[in-house]
Amino acid sequence: MKQLILEMEAYASEHNVPIIEKESITFIMKLIKANKIKNILEIGSAIGYSSILMASVAPDVTVTTIERDETRYMECLKNVKKCNFEQKINVVFQDALEVNLSNVSYDMIFIDAAKAQNTKFFEKFKYFLKPNGIIITDNLKFHGYTGKSEDIESKNLKSLVSKIEEYIEFLKGNKEFETKFYDVGDGLSVSVRRNDKK
Ligand code: SAH
Ligand code: MG
Repeated sequence: MKQLILEMEAYASEHNVPIIEKESITFIMKLIKANKIKNILEIGSAIGYSSILMASVAPDVTVTTIERDETRYMECLKNVKKCNFEQKINVVFQDALEVNLSNVSYDMIFIDAAKAQNTKFFEKFKYFLKPNGIIITDNLKFHGYTGKSEDIESKNLKSLVSKIEEYIEFLKGNKEFETKFYDVGDGLSVSVRRNDKK
């Protein structure tokens, strides 16, 4: 397992796969443990690095992870097999915005795919979150660009960073979910449903 993780880190750096930062996945793994999270939906598998680490927290943790890129999907399957997690991790090869989930609900949803689509993912998948479930989003700092979109010259990057800034405002103004932001790794948010019954 340790060896596989090292191999995946090497593969990611060699092939420019944006896997989660150490500090962030450690934070998430603690959260999974503390909240006794059992089933997780991940948007954006890449090569399975975060899925495998999340699934490794406890024997009864399972992950469904969605990936639209074929090469990464294949690589992810390979890695899931290597650690014998076929029963724990279900890898779905599809665009997350086109996936049909039915009759399932998750303790945790981890949004880590196309950053410009965070709001869409949130709005689509919140219906599959258990009442006390949590939604985590990665890369809110976007390598330090977030908050500086005005100064960015490249059009594509500017637009992407603006979308992340909009997503943060969306979370801050959200009446249904309360969100905490963490300056961990590339920036994480943790959203939980507000309890209006107090
Ligand atoms: N969670 C992974 C990293 C994911 S990188 C880890 O930390 O190990 C983001 C991945 O999301 C990329 O592989 C990209 O192909 C995928 N992706 C982006 N938009 C997507 C979408 N709409 N549906 C499914 N996968 C998507
Ligand atoms: Mg990420």
